[in-house]
Amino acid sequence: MAIELSPPPEVHELAERTRTFIRDRVLPLEDAHDGDITAAGGDTFRVDLQQAAREAGVFAPHAPVEYGGHGLGMSDRAPVFEEAGYSLFGPTALNIAAPDEGNVHMLAHIANPEQKQQYLAPLARGEVRSAFAMTEPAPGAGSDPSALATRAVRADGGWRINGRKWFITGADGAGFFIIMARTSGEPGQRGGATMFLAPADSAGIRVGRHLDTLDRSMVGGHCEVFFEDLLVSDAAVLGEVDRGFEYAQVRLGPARMTHVMRWLGAARRGHDVAVAHVARREGFGSRLGDLGMVQKMIADNEIDIAATRALLTRACWELDRGEPAADATSIAKTFAAEAIFRIIDRSMQMCGGLGVSGDLPLARLSREVRPFRIYDGPSEVHRWAIAKRAVGAAKRALRDAE
Ligand SMILES: Cc1cc2nc3c(=O)[nH]c(=O)nc-3n(C[C@H](O)[C@H](O)[C@H](O)COP(=O)(O)OP(=O)(O)OC[C@H]3O[C@@H](n4cnc5c(N)ncnc54)[C@H](O)[C@@H]3O)c2cc1C
Repeated sequence: MAIELSPPPEVHELAERTRTFIRDRVLPLEDAHDGDITAAGGDTFRVDLQQAAREAGVFAPHAPVEYGGHGLGMSDRAPVFEEAGYSLFGPTALNIAAPDEGNVHMLAHIANPEQKQQYLAPLARGEVRSAFAMTEPAPGAGSDPSALATRAVRADGGWRINGRKWFITGADGAGFFIIMARTSGEPGQRGGATMFLAPADSAGIRVGRHLDTLDRSMVGGHCEVFFEDLLVSDAAVLGEVDRGFEYAQVRLGPARMTHVMRWLGAARRGHDVAVAHVARREGFGSRLGDLGMVQKMIADNEIDIAATRALLTRACWELDRGEPAADATSIAKTFAAEAIFRIIDRSMQMCGGLGVSGDLPLARLSREVRPFRIYDGPSEVHRWAIAKRAVGAAKRALRDAE
């Protein structure tokens, strides 16, 4: 069977244009603001950056063509998103940052025509931002989504939602929320979740404090959000009642892979910075890059980059074929989240004191990539799921053989 690894010419060209745009327009801004998007101006900054991306013809590579995007599938997104991720501000510039990118993907697949008009169209065009509200403080939903405690109960012509969420990326300043709430069953039971769409200025939605996480590159922070007698109509249900967990999978598999694409770009930047440094810096009668233990770090980075890309390619191929790709996305996400952190960590080590200083971007890259081992499924949860499927298949094989 033939294996085609080269992207189509138009995708290659878009990736090259993205690379130039990021290098010339975005990286200098990231460096000037130490990767802190709030310090750079938050939403005002985002709007200007996105206008520059439109003018450069690189805006919204993922969005459907009818909503002004380039309509790329998962495999074609990979090289473009990786180039965008080379700068911490790149994904925001192209409108492919989390959670908006994943929300565009999910709305394109699940929303009805009216919902697409009201929510997807302005989101794809960068006119508004969005938030995806799933995680709750203990004892609510976290790694275990079945603990979902936010409730939606029947009210006149619609639903009344009550609950508390946290770590909701982009909540401060979002135009609308996608809310995961329990419509049947009890916390701890599988199923019974529904997704609701609600404008952020609805009475009954209150954005609370920002959780002071390590990272600084996502507009709108990671916030607590309170739903207090939020009334929504039946038209606010995304898809069908009680199918929320199913729809979450439509979003999560691809969203995990687009995180990998973007953070792989960041890891590549860290590696490039370190290799350039050790090729120049002299010590012990040679360049640092000629010393064996430094070369080991360089080679290990190259191996981690190549392996991440290979696992990503496989997972995207399965997703583009319409497969659930549960194993492939779990494997790629787990490996990538850990490999990307290792790459940045080795890059800091190679640069000595400079590596942990503000003179190079490595320290800020390190703080940005660390949370990726936790969100979109902690590494332990993915390993547990991969192993459970493997053991389950082995048990079925044993039963069949009896
Ligand atoms: C920067 C950031 C952005 C986020 N953005 C969003 C967002 O936009 N929307 C949203 O809804 N949520 C968001 N989250 C929340 C994120 O999805 C959760 O943090 C994640 O699902 C883990 O849940 P938890 O924090 O409750 O950890 P817990 O569920 O309490 O787990 C804690 C730890 O226990 C271990 N563990 C858990 N289960 C298992 C298992 N089965 N086997 C072995 N070990 C296990 C893991 O080491 C895990 O890290 C974000 C989080 C961060 C850090």
